[in-house]
Amino acid sequence: MRFWGVRGSIACSGPRTARYGGNTSSLEVRCDERLLLFDAGTGIRYLGKALEGKELDTDLFFTHTHFDHVCGLPFFRPFFESGNRFRLWAGHLDARQMTLKRVLSEFMMSPLFPVPPEIFHAQMEYRDFRSGDTLRPAAGVTLKTAPLNHPDGATGYRIEYAGKSLCYLTDTEHVPGKPDRNILGLIAGADLVIYDCMYTDEEYPRYATWGHSTWQEGVRLCREAGAKRLVVFHHDPEHDDDMLDGIAREVEKALPGSVVAREGLVLEP
Ligand SMILES: [Zn+2]
Ligand SMILES: [Zn+2]
Repeated sequence: MRFWGVRGSIACSGPRTARYGGNTSSLEVRCDERLLLFDAGTGIRYLGKALEGKELDTDLFFTHTHFDHVCGLPFFRPFFESGNRFRLWAGHLDARQMTLKRVLSEFMMSPLFPVPPEIFHAQMEYRDFRSGDTLRPAAGVTLKTAPLNHPDGATGYRIEYAGKSLCYLTDTEHVPGKPDRNILGLIAGADLVIYDCMYTDEEYPRYATWGHSTWQEGVRLCREAGAKRLVVFHHDPEHDDDMLDGIAREVEKALPGSVVAREGLVLEP
């Protein structure tokens, strides 16, 4: 898997965030030839440039549809190439009230945005499911899902392929002293856990109810669930490179092999 955007809430450019990167959530996962995408923050624009000219038949899974996870969507060039096929998935909406297609259509609507999703030339399918469902987007690829604790809901994913497992859990808030049972179940024994580490435990009390967690909680969850490595993700825009270097040292000590996500980082479970 490769990170194209690792930042939470809002993109932030500038010298203080240049090394870890300022783009919001976007992940590329490859199961041999099969490509899976996760979230469409500002990082997906760069992924789109890297994929240009390739014929794609691909799934894009959203954790949820808060702005920082969808705002790169209209700038993903492969959507403008006819011949490409995409299936877009979301599990956090109650499809009786609101579908993924409707959310994206309302976000790409004048005067918020000049053109609607119909501008895309690729074949687009929108698929709503329920967090907790198991998805099988391709032969041998299993996606287990679980609901996360976040305003408006969010979905956590566990991707299993060829005996390896990679979990992607953002955005989610923990309750201090009460490990999230849904998350423990999803990450049990996983090889790699990418987790919402927006804050530190020291900062967290100021941001209770904002829907995010801490790297220390990520370590506690991984230990309890027997997961091997934690990947610190969804960095607060106020956390500059020096601060993230400090967290990288701490998290490696707390759970050896763990790392802080940065743009361009490639990991193999
Ligand atoms: Zn977010
Ligand atoms: Zn969110």
